[in-house]
Amino acid sequence: MDFETPEKTRLIIGMIDEFVDKELIPLEREFANKSFKDLLPALEEKRAMVKKMELWAPNHPKEFGGMGLNLVDHAFVSESLGRSPLGHYVFGCQAPDAGNIEILYLHGTEEQKEKYLRPLVEGKIRSCFSMTEVELPGSNPVMMDTTAVKDGDDYVINGQKWYTSSSDGAAFAIVMAKTNPEAPPYLQASMIIVPCDTPGFNHVRNIPVMGEAGSDYFGHGEILYQSCRVPQKNLLGPEGHGFVIAQERLGPGRIHHCMRWLGICKRSFDLMCKRASERIMTPDGKTLATKQIIQAWIAECAAEIQAARLMTLNAAWKIEKLGIKEAREDISLIKFFVAGVLQNVVDKALQVHGGLGMTDDIIIPFFYRHERAARIYDGADEVHKMAVARRILRGYEGREVK
Ligand SMILES: Cc1cc2nc3c(=O)[nH]c(=O)nc-3n(C[C@H](O)[C@H](O)[C@H](O)COP(=O)(O)OP(=O)(O)OC[C@H]3O[C@@H](n4cnc5c(N)ncnc54)[C@H](O)[C@@H]3O)c2cc1C
Repeated sequence: MDFETPEKTRLIIGMIDEFVDKELIPLEREFANKSFKDLLPALEEKRAMVKKMELWAPNHPKEFGGMGLNLVDHAFVSESLGRSPLGHYVFGCQAPDAGNIEILYLHGTEEQKEKYLRPLVEGKIRSCFSMTEVELPGSNPVMMDTTAVKDGDDYVINGQKWYTSSSDGAAFAIVMAKTNPEAPPYLQASMIIVPCDTPGFNHVRNIPVMGEAGSDYFGHGEILYQSCRVPQKNLLGPEGHGFVIAQERLGPGRIHHCMRWLGICKRSFDLMCKRASERIMTPDGKTLATKQIIQAWIAECAAEIQAARLMTLNAAWKIEKLGIKEAREDISLIKFFVAGVLQNVVDKALQVHGGLGMTDDIIIPFFYRHERAARIYDGADEVHKMAVARRILRGYEGREVK
């Protein structure tokens, strides 16, 4: 078994690490104290630098202007970029655009690819993904109220969605709506591309999340679709295949998220160790790092991070070699395990900083607020645990165990 990172990947990661340290981390104080919209000019400058360095859109197809890295290589990139909350955006591989790019590439018509995919990869426009509804459980999305009814050459969409992340200022949404209510539950919904300036696409608000409504890319929209009419040619993939395509979107997406979370863990862990080593706690100069309980946290966090990282890289490798179906169990395992490690590491890092850990003078409270959601989106912890346990237990039905 070879655990070595390929040289080409190491070179890319070295460049990204340096860029994050020099160009992005110094912007974070402004990021914490300004609206995202106000930061856009500075971020555009950084994006131009990334393009010049030929590191733009690392995971996206080469033919559309990306670097075309495979899933395992991009996993390393995602970890490196995750150290700053600005990383993925500045390198053009941010969610939800990344997932939308994947499905447009796999299922888009030639016309859809030219109109939506190309400018999206180039970073000229943004998009959002509109599936979760206010009144119905996102954990069981077959319970969906949003409908898309055929009328002439169009679909007419009605429904209420929320957590349509980054809808503020997006050019288009990929909307999940019921097109085939008579079909079996998992074949009732379709994905439809809806330009955000279509009449009937009503951006109600950016939802306040953990004390912040955010703006532009950095927000989560509530959207009311009221007789929102789009041509039937905006259907993405086959009709009734919305859930099938959504599953494809979530597989690699979970690897990207987990590795991004591990980047956050690494940053928080570094800050925790540095603070513990420097914070003098007694008149004779003993630091926080001399306390056994802090040493235990550091050792436990180091072990958790390493375990989570190996599990995630293994899942990425399995997706590449065997496909998403074969890797389903591994994807569920990392989704809840890494989210839990993230929460623990960030919490310990905050605790070690004491009062400073609660201030936006450092990045840790930002991670603490915004990354709590990791245990909810892309499948809540409990849903993944149940799915894994069910699959494991099936293997014991009628099996003799000695
Ligand atoms: C920051 C953030 C960004 C998001 N971005 C998007 C986006 O871009 N597009 C989009 O469409 N959606 C997005 N979502 C929505 C997300 O996908 C849903 O919140 C998620 O699917 C859970 O659905 P729900 O909120 O309706 O909770 P519910 O389905 O009501 O579940 C509530 C809780 O019940 C528990 N639970 C659920 N099922 C089970 C079960 N079977 N057994 C035991 N317990 C269970 C879990 O603890 C869960 O947290 C985002 C959410 C957040 C927080």
